Amino acid sequence: MLISIVVPCYNEEDVIGRFHDQVRDVADDLLPLGHDMEFVYVDDGSRDRTLAALQHLADLDSRVRYVSFSRNFGKEAALLAGLRHASGDCVVVMDADLQHPPELIKRMVDLHAQGHDQVIARRTRSGDRFTRTLTARLYYRLINRLVDVELVDGVGDFRLLSRRVVDAVLALTEYNRFSKGLFAWVGFPSTTFEYENAVRAHGRSSWTFRSLLNYGLDGLLSFNNRPLRAAVYLGMGLLLCAGLYTVWIVAAALVHGVDTPGYVTIITAVTALAGVQMIMLGVIGEYTGRIYYEVKGRPHFLVKATNVERTEGRAPRGTRKDLIP
Ligand code: UDP
Ligand code: MG
Repeated sequence: MLISIVVPCYNEEDVIGRFHDQVRDVADDLLPLGHDMEFVYVDDGSRDRTLAALQHLADLDSRVRYVSFSRNFGKEAALLAGLRHASGDCVVVMDADLQHPPELIKRMVDLHAQGHDQVIARRTRSGDRFTRTLTARLYYRLINRLVDVELVDGVGDFRLLSRRVVDAVLALTEYNRFSKGLFAWVGFPSTTFEYENAVRAHGRSSWTFRSLLNYGLDGLLSFNNRPLRAAVYLGMGLLLCAGLYTVWIVAAALVHGVDTPGYVTIITAVTALAGVQMIMLGVIGEYTGRIYYEVKGRPHFLVKATNVERTEGRAPRGTRKDLIP
């Protein structure tokens, strides 16, 4: 069996060598069991010397393939490129920063051999800041109410995918990609195991509060139009409140006569309604924006340098019998 390791790298020159040493050790352990390995590194337009480091690795190790983007297209695009260029019978997706311990690959391969198409590593949140843990908890509560697929806290992109899962994911050509959701959407027999979260080996996480917030919104909006539905319900609720209030205020005027001081009420109502309308417009705008990007049909990424010929659509080694239709 050929195992492809897909690794998105953005400014990882300091760890990439160490990362490769560790996965190579794992590859050496798996070789006697009849498993070959290839490494697909995707340089996501790094500003440092990541590309040079990858080229160096490719010179030393013929199993290394790299794809380098013309600019930073984001991790989702890097992941897609990695999957497209992987030719293995199964693919392990992992981060370059050693937060995903390479030794776990063996366990994943074992579980895959037991018939699971997706083997998902779920990290425990120990060592995370309390606020991050809390926001993550709340977010997953919310998103699982709104979204069709089940998203689990701590489950990220660190997972093994069988060839048919990879092909299914590649068949989803949408521009706005939310991999966590796409993996959950394709389904197939899956299993999850837990691992201890390691701290980043070097450099710093490229996630800021803002990018996390945007990522969260992407997840909410990528799967269905339930937020639009929520906006409709909110509007109906407000209309009901306004109606009740009108009845009350008209009745009061009829009984007590008109009392002019209503300034506070008016201002409060106007600002509240304006806020709600803004949010609804924003939600609609988000969907329209997504349609706009889909319609343009631009490529997800542009390649600047690579040592692989285009493998998209190339038959993987092994049979293609079990592929989706
Ligand atoms: N990454 C990428 N493009 C980006 C940002 C990150 O390819 O624009 C890669 C990065 O090199 C790493 C992985 O995605 O291998 C996860 O990134 P990071 O460690 O910053 O995220 P975290 O682990 O904090 O979720
Ligand atoms: Mg990381």
